[in-house]
Amino acid sequence: LVGKHHGESEEAQALGLRIVSHMRSRANEFSEKYQHNFSVLATPAEGLSGKFTKADRKSFGVLPGITDKIYYTNSNHVPVYYHCSPRHKAKVEAPYHELTRGGHIFYVEIDGDATHNPEAISDIVDLMDKYNIGYGSVNHDRNRCMTCGYEDAQENLDECPKCGSHDIDKLQRITGYLVGTTDRWNNAKLAELNDRIVHK
Ligand SMILES: [Zn+2]
Repeated sequence: LVGKHHGESEEAQALGLRIVSHMRSRANEFSEKYQHNFSVLATPAEGLSGKFTKADRKSFGVLPGITDKIYYTNSNHVPVYYHCSPRHKAKVEAPYHELTRGGHIFYVEIDGDATHNPEAISDIVDLMDKYNIGYGSVNHDRNRCMTCGYEDAQENLDECPKCGSHDIDKLQRITGYLVGTTDRWNNAKLAELNDRIVHK
């Protein structure tokens, strides 16, 4: 709507908050009117991330920065491919948590072996607390050799350095779930996963 996304433009962020605030107040009005607990949910978009993009492409064509990928980034998240610090990501996404009481998630992708760096995790948890993030996670990959039990966090590991086995279980968090394999995810969600960058 403004030519830039909310991770890079204050104008886009202000508009995003206006839109979601409007949704929130409409939901509140409906709750009052019908005496039901309507709420606004920041969708994790397991299926919609691809479905909506496809439908929008059909109506509007391929628009640069909007429908030129086969997925939409989840809800209020800064686009998955945008390079920024965990702090910037938290600052931009946190205000939406207050508005989406039906559910939301904040995550930070980290690289390296997190088991050897608990301070990094604790810093991110402090950050979530500071910005009043409702629910959050720290994503890091974990490989486990199914033959001998060796574990590490190397990228694209396909042979166990200890026993040479190729039976490697790769643990990744793609949505709200920990998945050992990405075989069952749809193309849109896999494309999103492949575009994710590490937040430094
Ligand atoms: Zn092994």
